[in-house]
Amino acid sequence: MIYQESQGKQFLTSVHHYFDEAARHSTLPPGILEQIKICNSVYKVNFPVEVNGKVEVIEGIRAQHSHHKLPTKGGIRYSIHVDEDEVIALATLMTFKCALVDVPFGGAKGGVKINPRTTPVDVLEKVTRRFASELIKKNLIGPGMDVPAPDYGTGSREMAWIADTYHTFKYGETNALGCVTGKPVGQGGIRGRTEATGLGIYFGLREALQDTEILNQLNISPGMAGKRLILQGLGNVGYHAGLFCQQDGVIITGIAEREGGIYNPNGLDVEAVFQHRKESGSILNYPGATNVERSLDLLEYECDILLPAALENQIDESNAERIKTKIIAEGANGPVTQPAEQILLKRNVYILPDLYLNAGGVTVSYFEWLKNLSNVRFGRMGKRAEEASLKRIIDTIETSTNKSISAKERQLIIRGADEITLVRSGLEDTMITAYHEMREVMRQHPTVSDLRTAAFYSATEKIAVSYLSLGIFP
Ligand code: NAD
Repeated sequence: MIYQESQGKQFLTSVHHYFDEAARHSTLPPGILEQIKICNSVYKVNFPVEVNGKVEVIEGIRAQHSHHKLPTKGGIRYSIHVDEDEVIALATLMTFKCALVDVPFGGAKGGVKINPRTTPVDVLEKVTRRFASELIKKNLIGPGMDVPAPDYGTGSREMAWIADTYHTFKYGETNALGCVTGKPVGQGGIRGRTEATGLGIYFGLREALQDTEILNQLNISPGMAGKRLILQGLGNVGYHAGLFCQQDGVIITGIAEREGGIYNPNGLDVEAVFQHRKESGSILNYPGATNVERSLDLLEYECDILLPAALENQIDESNAERIKTKIIAEGANGPVTQPAEQILLKRNVYILPDLYLNAGGVTVSYFEWLKNLSNVRFGRMGKRAEEASLKRIIDTIETSTNKSISAKERQLIIRGADEITLVRSGLEDTMITAYHEMREVMRQHPTVSDLRTAAFYSATEKIAVSYLSLGIFP
């Protein structure tokens, strides 16, 4: 698919349409709904960076969609296709995503027009630090202001550069590390952030696959094991989501990347495919698999779950009719256009919307931010106390029953929660709770027949509380 400038506009129109759909079911005053929908502010900046002895002008954008809660939060993507409408659409999604999963942030998003794959690392560092400086100058970044995170084309390395730049400007600020999330663990990051979005996708899918009411409509059996899944994008989100699903017995029959796709009805090993791509530079020619020349074609292969985890607008009116899956799990933001969704819903495809399904990243980012503000690792205070308490219980059971527990069993039982355990537990609970909130909306409002509308509805009602409590609206 050729990416065109107008796709950002199309994406924003889709997001606004989804909001309007949900708003139709709401009894909130129109003024509040308008305020919740609109993007509060957009900052565009051009800055010079020296590349190979020449000056290049780089464009950066930061949109803060809603200030109903502070800080605002959202990733920064690096791509030459970044445009203002796309960034606003993504910032808008962030507002509703945070509200849906009870993360107390407003939505934001950033983008820098640069190709991260062809740009040398030293230039990427200059660009990142300069963009961060521009945001600092305007007070558009900070632990209580706006907190970026990784997104398409960025990762922990870029977040570390941003944190370091912020720290240099705000020397001595105790909460400085909370200015950005997705940092490496050694620099204030949190264990479990890298794989959080993928793991959240797995938890969300697992929950949906236990929802018998829905599964009966789809004529699909409960449980993950044996379900056939096609994955688009083997980056951070796709790779981890694929791994977790495969570990639970899902058969990954196809993987699509930018250079093409591969298919094997008996299953592909995600880790081995990842290593093959790393070593050969391409996903194609993976042993035992058939090459699919046009990567988009793979999305039309028959499967139980289609998991687009690359870019927006991948399923549109041109291919929606030919999609042969029962469930679409939106790992990426906006992979299905709004007109395509209409076609898919009519064809009884169950769509787990981006708003919900990829919220694991921001959820664990929230945990990282909490860690940075408290300046203490999760589990540090309680782990040993918990273990001592469990040991006392086991000792008492042994004494009172006159039976001894094996050393192996003891070790398994007497284990206090450490950071990664707590992070994953918090993420699992978040994804399960949000799924049932959306389903409850569908039960309470029989005219809400899809999860996306339910997600927007649930989020809108929560955001509205911030405005209603101010008493400024009738
Ligand atoms: P990434 O850069 O790590 O990975 C994206 C992958 O998609 C890359 O491997 C890339 O080669 C591949 N790709 C690009 N064009 C493609 C095409 N036409 N066909 C198939 N594959 C293609 O990015 P990511 O962080 O994994 O983000 C992917 C999506 O998930 C984006 O929409 C992003 O907004 C969304 N998302 C990411 C996070 C996160 O925590 N990283 C959180 C929420 C949502």
